[in-house]
Amino acid sequence: MMLPVERNNAKTQHLGNLRNLVAATDKENYINDKKVARFRLLESAKRLLPGWGVDYCMEATIPGESVTIWQDTESGAAHVKGVARCGSVWTCPVCSTQIALQRKQEISTALKAAEKIGYRPVLVTLTASHGRDMSAAELIKQLTNAKRDMRRARAFRELKNEIGYRGSISSLECTWGYANGFHFHFHEVFLVSKVLQPETVKNMFFTRWERALSRVGLTCDYEHGVDVIIPKQDDYELVGNYIAKWGLESELSRGDAKEGRSDHFSPFQLLAMSEAKPWAGGVFVEYAKATKGQTSMRWSRGLRDVLGLSKELTDKEAAEARLSENSVLLARLTVKQWKRVIYSGRSGVVGELLAVARSGRDALLLWLESVFDIMPDG
Ligand SMILES: [Zn+2]
Repeated sequence: MMLPVERNNAKTQHLGNLRNLVAATDKENYINDKKVARFRLLESAKRLLPGWGVDYCMEATIPGESVTIWQDTESGAAHVKGVARCGSVWTCPVCSTQIALQRKQEISTALKAAEKIGYRPVLVTLTASHGRDMSAAELIKQLTNAKRDMRRARAFRELKNEIGYRGSISSLECTWGYANGFHFHFHEVFLVSKVLQPETVKNMFFTRWERALSRVGLTCDYEHGVDVIIPKQDDYELVGNYIAKWGLESELSRGDAKEGRSDHFSPFQLLAMSEAKPWAGGVFVEYAKATKGQTSMRWSRGLRDVLGLSKELTDKEAAEARLSENSVLLARLTVKQWKRVIYSGRSGVVGELLAVARSGRDALLLWLESVFDIMPDG
């Protein structure tokens, strides 16, 4: 991460010390750069969606609480408390990262619990053919209706018996491409008792999915309509990435190789492009309107109980930074001091703050003082 260089300035000495304090490794630099980038993206989202939840995210203070900055001594990660979060997986690059992290851990726990009682995951992606002229809102509605109809049909009960179905977890995902516009798709994890071949599962789903789509006026072709992955046990850790990425850069190798293609963009890639290309901002806003209020992840009824999981957190709860027992308080800021930081005009400043805080209390205090003239009380 680049730290501020202010030459010919009385602060130069301070910043020299700061450099020594922030002796980051390559891995740290990578984490910190990504953090700052996410907060820069958040600024783009605020610019495109004034008045939305994301517009006050990581900015508005919570009445009656002071703003505190914490560090988890085990992971090194820093957190801010006392600041509102929007909790949107769809529009907020900061909240969606936190939610994805939380959901991935939960999926990992779920798969381990499922394994103990004899169930394994089968990953199914469902989508429909679409063109650039189709509106995002209309597509989501049609796809959601088709999925609901498919699951209610008697033919689906037969499918459940054939695969030894115990439950499923479903999430909605979106990319956008020049040629065909919005590409909404469902990622589903089916927990099943039978040992199955991907091709068999694909055939079972394809006939039912195609029928359900035709009822809502959509079509799909055999190649793209249904995709099935049956992960090896070693890859179970990646299942959470598959189902809970919500526009974030994917870390799962397979099915997402196409995401790197320059003609397909995740919502947050569009957001990143929006500064230079206003049309990308327009696409992001249409996506934001269409996904507003949509459920990001759905567990089939009773599945969480079977797997011994506690009550599901809302997106907003999942977006809250959770402090581990090993967290230490680094600094406490007044509302006025917090505002001085966030309205300083430094792009991605909260990300920068969190990056500096990874190096501990001394680095943070020095940074606050040298850059903002802030000396927290304690
Ligand atoms: Zn947010």
